Amino acid sequence: MSRQYTLHRPAATRSSGIDYRAALNDDQYAAVTSGPGRALVIAGAGSGKTRTLTYRVAWLIDHGVDPREILLLTFTNKAAREMTGRVREQVPQDTSALWAGTFHSIGSRILRRHAEEIGFTRSFSILDRDDQKSMLKSVIEACRIETGQRRFPKPEVLASVFSLAENTGSAIEEVIDTRHPHLIEWEDEIAKVHKAYLERKLATNSMDFDDLLVRTVGLFESHPDILDLYRLRFRHILVDEYQDTNAVQGRLVDLLAGGDNSLMAVGDDAQSIYSWRGADMSLILGFPERHPGAKVYTIETNYRSVPEILDLSNAAIRANRGRFEKSLQAARPSAGVRPAVVPLPDPQSQAAFVVQRLCDLHEAGMPLGEIAVLYRAHFQSLEIQLELTARGIPFAITSGLRFFEQAHVKDVAAFMRFVVNRRDEVSFTRMAGLLPGCGPAACARLWSQWLASGWADCDTPPPVWSDVLLGFKVPKKSEAHWCQLCHTLDELSADGVPARPPEMIFSILEGVYDDYLRATFDNADTRRADIERLSEYGGGFEDVVEFLAQLSLMSSADGEPNGKGEVADEAKVTLSSIHQAKGLEWGAVFLIWLVDGQFPNGRVLEGEDDDLLEEERRLFYVAVTRARDELYLTYPLFNPRSYSGDVVCRPSRFFEDFPQELIEHWNVGDGGFSDEIPF
Ligand code: ATP
Ligand code: MG
Repeated sequence: MSRQYTLHRPAATRSSGIDYRAALNDDQYAAVTSGPGRALVIAGAGSGKTRTLTYRVAWLIDHGVDPREILLLTFTNKAAREMTGRVREQVPQDTSALWAGTFHSIGSRILRRHAEEIGFTRSFSILDRDDQKSMLKSVIEACRIETGQRRFPKPEVLASVFSLAENTGSAIEEVIDTRHPHLIEWEDEIAKVHKAYLERKLATNSMDFDDLLVRTVGLFESHPDILDLYRLRFRHILVDEYQDTNAVQGRLVDLLAGGDNSLMAVGDDAQSIYSWRGADMSLILGFPERHPGAKVYTIETNYRSVPEILDLSNAAIRANRGRFEKSLQAARPSAGVRPAVVPLPDPQSQAAFVVQRLCDLHEAGMPLGEIAVLYRAHFQSLEIQLELTARGIPFAITSGLRFFEQAHVKDVAAFMRFVVNRRDEVSFTRMAGLLPGCGPAACARLWSQWLASGWADCDTPPPVWSDVLLGFKVPKKSEAHWCQLCHTLDELSADGVPARPPEMIFSILEGVYDDYLRATFDNADTRRADIERLSEYGGGFEDVVEFLAQLSLMSSADGEPNGKGEVADEAKVTLSSIHQAKGLEWGAVFLIWLVDGQFPNGRVLEGEDDDLLEEERRLFYVAVTRARDELYLTYPLFNPRSYSGDVVCRPSRFFEDFPQELIEHWNVGDGGFSDEIPF
């Protein structure tokens, strides 16, 4: 006789109690609750793709999946923290074993554990961009490249060539031919430096950012047993912003998901904006072919924006040919206000309008942290930075350094400072240090010669600078460049009279600095554009001394309100490039400088390359879809101080993509000195 006895185990996991049905719409719910396997969620902006992934993580844990079996790949570490933070609040289980982060951070974690297998040790160093530059500099020196009087490309340029090659899986020569044709004369030398750089990294047990991706893939490909370990562990892989993955990242995901692991990727082909960094949109479009049997989910509802903003976004992207057709319906009720299109007389008025309007919104109750000013390129934020600083409104810039703190702006200012203050050793050293072959010792020798000339203590500058300076002893390698520099100084002040700021900046840029930029930076065009903006700003000053004083004050004022110290992010207006704004949202968005040549970018227009123009349009789509309640599209009609001489601005061609009835035209008048702008 046997007795039947049943064990009642306590439920292994407590449920989160999330009401998934209520929190999600049907499409989102279907994706969140889908069974194991491959899934692609492809849907427009603000449709809740990121939200779907967050709930998917919670759902998996709720249904008995051990958090350590989940890998969540996001575009920034901040996004990973926010998503896992939300999951942690919702589910009672301990989620600390879940892996979440960017491709780079996950790569680094994996490599740390298996470094020995690929010739490194566990304690390998990660080279940030600065470390990488220093290492490349020393490698270039060690390679003893014969340059003669020519400039060999600087570490920053080489780093960008190497990086693009790694991220697209291309040969160095191919990247040079297609993306950096001006470097063809150096092709052999660059290959030599590349080889030496690889050896140096190995010898010093160091990896750069690209290694974190490429070597992880390499590790998995050469060690199937290690790959199996991770395949066994990460049964559920989730990827956000999949449209911007590049070939190496795509390969990494496919390797990990191999076998029968679940993979859910979410993205929007209409928001693919990183092709210039190697992102490959065919990865998202080809997902169903690469993963046969994959379920494809679409979400047709937009939860972010009021219908007026959504209508404009939908119309704007429709002009692109290469895309999945999607139609997004607004979940939110009408706000009764259409997006504003606001032409302003000039860049200064554009800034005055944006700042005054955002103050209005703030006074009406919108927190500053809910307001963003977006632009195509960092330099376009100059006037806004000035205006916010002048009004003591705190702001955070995510697109880069504050304008006047940028190295190239300081370089140009150094020439001007030295001309007006001939005892300014710091500026002199900065200026001379730009010459090839002029290290600290050579600069110090030049400075002594300058002091010895007696002109440093004179009340007036030399009538002709080159008469004094050309006789100085300079390193052989710097001779031609020194000569150019002396003649540039001649133009900055002739017969003891300093030129006006824009003329000075013109001479510096065209005389010496543009050459330096091209040889030194991979983003020389952007930096040149900054300097052109500096010149335009300088057009408002007659006196160079006053101009320089203003620059110094601006870089130390830093937008902090009346020196009250750090302000929390929620209490700051965000200034951001559109690229940096991906995935984020604000109550009100101002998109500025909507002028042909600025946005879309001038180089794109010159090239007449449809693919590039389509990428610009996707960028425009990303920008307008960041707004929840209010959207302002602004542009100056004239740029009276334009560096290029094109004073009249042509409104962006993107305005032609949507019908006039979707927008409201604002005529901004000048109300003189009153606080109100009469609309
Ligand atoms: P992007 O393409 O810009 O990355 P996204 O598709 O990832 O956007 P989310 O950021 O996830 O969209 O969601 C946009 C906004 O809509 C968020 O504020 C989110 O909380 C809200 N949202 C999404 N789905 C729903 C829903 N079913 N109910 C209520 N709000 C939702
Ligand atoms: Mg998102």
